[in-house]
Amino acid sequence: MIKVGVAENVKYVKEKIVEACKRANRDSSEIILVGVSKTHPIDKLFKAKEAGIETFGESKAQELMEKYEQLDGVKWHFIGHLQKNKVKYIIDKVELIHSLDDIELAKEIDKRAKNIGKVMDVLIQINIGKEESKYGIYKEDILDFCNSLSEFKNIKVKGLMCIPPAEASIDETRNYFRTMKQIFDDVKKVEYENFDIKYLSMGMSDDFEIAIEEGANIIRVGTGIFGERYYAKEEK
Ligand SMILES: *Cc1c(COP(=O)(O)O)cnc(C)c1O
Repeated sequence: MIKVGVAENVKYVKEKIVEACKRANRDSSEIILVGVSKTHPIDKLFKAKEAGIETFGESKAQELMEKYEQLDGVKWHFIGHLQKNKVKYIIDKVELIHSLDDIELAKEIDKRAKNIGKVMDVLIQINIGKEESKYGIYKEDILDFCNSLSEFKNIKVKGLMCIPPAEASIDETRNYFRTMKQIFDDVKKVEYENFDIKYLSMGMSDDFEIAIEEGANIIRVGTGIFGERYYAKEEK
């Protein structure tokens, strides 16, 4: 059994955030740390909350719903690929969807948000490494995609998210993050009414410090807080 000290890990990650911010001349209060709790049992989430994690990230609707029922007083972000038929289950529970990657999904989010009188905050996922296996918009298509989102009154576009290729070197990853920051600055100039570009979600356990140096203000840390994921159990 791997011994995982969630509280110690949270403390460590927070220290690393402060150090990265110092290097980048940034204020660490700008950084939102999302504890990515997918596959982890609820008792670890309790510990993380106790250690100061205020926002949890899940990537499956079913799992988010179960944990949502058991853990109060925290915020939930949806970070995984979202199927249209799952939107209705999470729309009332999450504060931010990181993974808008398709116009049909946007339509569904808009419709479901409207039904419950909510304006849903979303990030556009960019497929920064142009990987076939990954979701997201190509950077060349981002302004057209923004234009196609401008009609949705119950969606507020708050920024961008990316997951760089897993096999990228540190230098390559840094370059992907730099490119993301440029796209982010471009999209900030877009003047649609339902756009309020604030968040750049990038950086995971292995690269969140680089991401902060390159301008991220939301980082998504799973393994670095909760330890290795449990994938052995049957899929839900
Ligand atoms: C699983 C996941 C993470 C966390 O990854 P770690 O390497 O464990 O920190 C972050 N973002 C997304 C979108 C994920 O699916």
